[in-house]
Amino acid sequence: MTNKKIQITVAKSAGFCPGVKNAIDKVLELAKHSKKTIYTLGPLIHNKQVIETLKEKNIHAVNSVREIKDKNSILVLRAHGIPPEEEAKIRALDIEVVDATCPLVKRVQENIRSHARKGYSTIIVGDRDHAEVVGLMGYTGGKGFVVSGPEEVKKLPHLEKANIVAQTTQEGEVFVAAAEEARKIAVELAVSNTICNPTRQRQKETVDFAKGSDLVIVVGGKNSANTTRLFQICERLAKRAVHIESEAELKTKIFAGALKIFITAGASTPTWMTEKVLKKTRELAGTGIRIKRREPR
Ligand code: SF4
Repeated sequence: MTNKKIQITVAKSAGFCPGVKNAIDKVLELAKHSKKTIYTLGPLIHNKQVIETLKEKNIHAVNSVREIKDKNSILVLRAHGIPPEEEAKIRALDIEVVDATCPLVKRVQENIRSHARKGYSTIIVGDRDHAEVVGLMGYTGGKGFVVSGPEEVKKLPHLEKANIVAQTTQEGEVFVAAAEEARKIAVELAVSNTICNPTRQRQKETVDFAKGSDLVIVVGGKNSANTTRLFQICERLAKRAVHIESEAELKTKIFAGALKIFITAGASTPTWMTEKVLKKTRELAGTGIRIKRREPR
């Protein structure tokens, strides 16, 4: 414990992005007004605690429509979107479908589709196995490549016409570096920086505050791509950074010598979890604490 003044700043961008919030609001609204069982194709968001809460409200995640035996159900397509062929198959089934794909993901899908129709191959800078990227690949007309960053662009074949896009939660610097490499392998290159605005704002705030912090606490699912990216940024910029899913992971020793503490959270982290982390941080960090809350979005 220390008597020095400690400042804890909570990020204004911490918590659900508009796409995730919209998807959650949609299923909660359905659960309130419909007697049907509600299924989501894949977990609605990458956050264990929220998924548990949804189960209590009879909202369940399935990996495939084949798992749904009761046709008197509602299937919700989550914010990440799905490939168009898969969507067409699902819509042909005798089951109610609600589309909660984020409009900003739809914009990327449209970008890819319109370029693909003009003969462009697509290079997606993102996580190959992430649901959003799997969905985006479906719009490439069979001419898509996924790369994690500039190093993987070097391994791509020579392309006549290519459109390089980003997974919406991609890190800005990684996308720019990948686009630079893509110029060397494509004769004609369209650069579509499709990182969404909420992600840009979150990353900018994180960079600004992580730089001057002794400790950054990043709250969010370990399986959440955008939370992991935030953590990677903080690891590079702050003196110390930790990625936790809940307040139970906080230990006194991580606060040793930390006077400036920044708490941020991924797009799939509920506000109540960030609040629990703030409360535990106050208990463990020491005395003489000043809390600064940045204005919420
Ligand atoms: S991260 Fe951006 S694109 Fe993805 S769901 Fe959230 S707001 Fe939509």
